[in-house]
Amino acid sequence: MTILEFVSEFPEEQSCKEHFKAKREKEGVCCKSCKSNALYWLQGEWQWQCKHCSFRTTLRSGSMMENSNLPFRTWYLAIAFMSYSKKGISAHEMRRQFNNLRYATFWSLMHRIRNSMGHRDAMYSLEGMVEFDEGYFEKTTPAGIKLKRGKGSVKQQNVAVMAESIPLESLETGKKNKAVRYFKMQVLNSHKKEAVNQTV
Ligand SMILES: [Zn+2]
Repeated sequence: MTILEFVSEFPEEQSCKEHFKAKREKEGVCCKSCKSNALYWLQGEWQWQCKHCSFRTTLRSGSMMENSNLPFRTWYLAIAFMSYSKKGISAHEMRRQFNNLRYATFWSLMHRIRNSMGHRDAMYSLEGMVEFDEGYFEKTTPAGIKLKRGKGSVKQQNVAVMAESIPLESLETGKKNKAVRYFKMQVLNSHKKEAVNQTV
């Protein structure tokens, strides 16, 4: 989805709420009190109610937006910015885009979005032909904090990079298609062979 499509699909708060409700219902909403999945929607209240114990679940409850007062559209826009930005977007930049709301607000919002994306990622396994490599990401320390002399201000983080491609043969040319479908990355805490093998 491009930014233009995003703006036309989610022009205001209501469209985001409707979309979020549909998404949650597709995944299945669970009653926090009795763990039942039999809930029905109370239209005027914007809440689900449990058929068994009558416990109510708000649209945000049990989601990454729980306990947040930010509009749904702010969350949606933040997710969009984070997925459109090739190089990643900082909480400072995000805050600037939202008329300088509190930095801590955006730091926490982005943290929750990343967590939720990571959690979703962990639910999928790669299949077919998987290529593996090790890579390094640079971690810069926050401004004002200096590392010990000689260590510089940049730390390197070792990560495993795995790419999945499905080697299907083309019916016309007989050539194998090696287009990559999914990537997975995981932080490696050790360089030892056993640890790397475990990750793989
Ligand atoms: Zn219940």
